[in-house]
Amino acid sequence: MKLGSVALVLAFLVLPCLGGAAGENPLLKPFGTPFEVPPFDRIETGHYLPAVREGIRIHNSEIEAITANPAPADFGNTVEALDTSGKLLETVRAVFYSQTGACSSDELMAAAREISPLLSSHNDDVMLNDRLFARVKAVYDSREKAKLAPDSLYLLENIYGEFVRGGSLLGPEKRARLREINRELSLLSLKFAENVLSETNGSFVVVDDASSLAGLPESVVAMGAETAREMKMEGKWVFTAQRPSWTPVLQYASDRKLREELYKAYVMRCDRDNERDNKQVLQKLVSLRYERAALLGYSDPAGYHLENRMAKEPKAVTSFLDRLWKPALERAGAEARAMQALIDREKGGFRLAPWDWWYYAEKLRKENYDLDESELRPYFSLDSVSAGVFGLGERLFGLKFIERKDIPVYHPEVKVYEVKDAGGETLGLLYTDFFPRDSKRAGAWSGGFRDSWLEDGKRVIPLSTIVCTFTRPAAGDPSLLSVDEVTTFFHEFGHALNTLLFEGRYRRTFAPLDSVELPSQIMENWALKPELLRSYARHYRTGEPMPQALIEKLRKSRLFNQGFQNVEYLAAAYLDIAWHSKGDPKDRNVTKFEENVMKEIGLIPEILPRYRSVHFSHMIGGYTAGYYAYIWAAVLDADAFGAFKERSLFDRKTALSFRKNILASLGTEDTMTLYKKFRGREPKVEPLLEQRGLLGTDR
Ligand SMILES: [Zn+2]
Repeated sequence: MKLGSVALVLAFLVLPCLGGAAGENPLLKPFGTPFEVPPFDRIETGHYLPAVREGIRIHNSEIEAITANPAPADFGNTVEALDTSGKLLETVRAVFYSQTGACSSDELMAAAREISPLLSSHNDDVMLNDRLFARVKAVYDSREKAKLAPDSLYLLENIYGEFVRGGSLLGPEKRARLREINRELSLLSLKFAENVLSETNGSFVVVDDASSLAGLPESVVAMGAETAREMKMEGKWVFTAQRPSWTPVLQYASDRKLREELYKAYVMRCDRDNERDNKQVLQKLVSLRYERAALLGYSDPAGYHLENRMAKEPKAVTSFLDRLWKPALERAGAEARAMQALIDREKGGFRLAPWDWWYYAEKLRKENYDLDESELRPYFSLDSVSAGVFGLGERLFGLKFIERKDIPVYHPEVKVYEVKDAGGETLGLLYTDFFPRDSKRAGAWSGGFRDSWLEDGKRVIPLSTIVCTFTRPAAGDPSLLSVDEVTTFFHEFGHALNTLLFEGRYRRTFAPLDSVELPSQIMENWALKPELLRSYARHYRTGEPMPQALIEKLRKSRLFNQGFQNVEYLAAAYLDIAWHSKGDPKDRNVTKFEENVMKEIGLIPEILPRYRSVHFSHMIGGYTAGYYAYIWAAVLDADAFGAFKERSLFDRKTALSFRKNILASLGTEDTMTLYKKFRGREPKVEPLLEQRGLLGTDR
């Protein structure tokens, strides 16, 4: 066994991302496709940069028209006009970044290095345009404000806030520095992401001795052989830092050394003192965030970023995390002791280490619940789970999902569905893209090429995506998902529903970051409920539904390993807040800092935070001081799911209210106001504690 090098991995690109024929730039004219979807069959990488430039030019002239308007500023001629401006630029941006995330290439990365600073500086041009800000401020200070509808008022207040937070009130010198910082930050974030992608692709373990494979399910061995073949190492087995390969090896490999090597291959990504090391990139990046926060009058980036979220301030976040941390840590400690006892019973003669956790968790699951996770996979073929996910959409909201084969896609593995309402009206399109590739970043997410709004009174059809890195089909079998992958699918589906069912009037929406996981996480609640499982979990060979006994075991083991799950998540949430609130990291040793934060919260040595700082993509890509958002929104989703439990899991009336007040409206009004319209009261924290086994009494 040995750690591989990146050069080897670059040799295997499974399927090419689609390019198109040369010619005119298709991004610069009407697409002429069904629903005006992006014409991926005609878009080439070289089209993006000129399209961004043209988009910026048009946006500038639209803004010029707003500021040159001789009429006094009012909501329509300023705020609404600003909201509808920049359409082409936004379309190109959305398509471009969807591609760099899901189907990248060296050329796309190179284009991103030109496009990102262009967009950053254009954004600054808009935010620091005095004449534009003066008009927005005039509306904000006017008497017209009192007469605006709630969604218009919300748009106005947020756009005004955006200008202020974007530096509109600063003097010329500080503005110039702010521009430099933003430009540098855009490039550093890109560098960080590029390093994580190439280190994820370049981190793997090669096995040449079959005896090291002991314990691994056949499908995992087959997957390892297949990867080795693709990497021109026929006859060997390769396991990678991609979750579908990594997790089952840690769960089942009885060779402790293999587990250790693969574990380290994953956790050491971007911390190998090579050219893809992120320690300095991170330090520089966070340091610039401190400088920007100071310029804008905040003590640290956490204060700056939390201001317009539900939590409002860092203290609210840490005291919330503290409330969960103690019971979670106690639970994880008990889990570790149970594993150590098992190791001792087996006369293992070693102390439980982080790379042992998955393996002994599996053994305990078997011992305590007579449940082996690999027994479940045959009932979770991707087709069955898709039927479950779409079926839930139908039972709750009456939606229909119809596959469309005539829509151009960016990769042959992408499928497209037309989503129709109960009455047959088209609500939007959903693109799904399920399997890992070298060209795709790790993890799962939902994005899109276009959001919905009302254009001249007509609803624009949104284009939503679900992108995952699920287990590929192997050796003649379909893709068989793990429980984790099943819930991930339901999660991303919730985000997609939020996009597909949105009914706001305006293009710009302002959902606080710590509320955006409400629509997604609530869907996870249904994934493993017996009532739904019975309808979709069917054996891929026999078509038999999942046996009642297995469903029952799954239900009973619901809180199994919850200590670990919560602790590794919460530790990462603390780490993210610490980076953004414990002072400028300029002279900091990154590794020491991480260790110290973990020491302070008392993390046990058998567990590492879910992400280490150097590959913590959330923290860099949009979730600045915001990784806590998942558990914050979990209070909302556990409480919201309670509304269904109080009536019935598929109660149409409750679903309708959730659709109207949350899915169709999030980001158009204050979130708590919307939530109260749905639930009739503010959320309570107890349902979350109960759901996660953190009340401290059960078990
Ligand atoms: Zn999410």
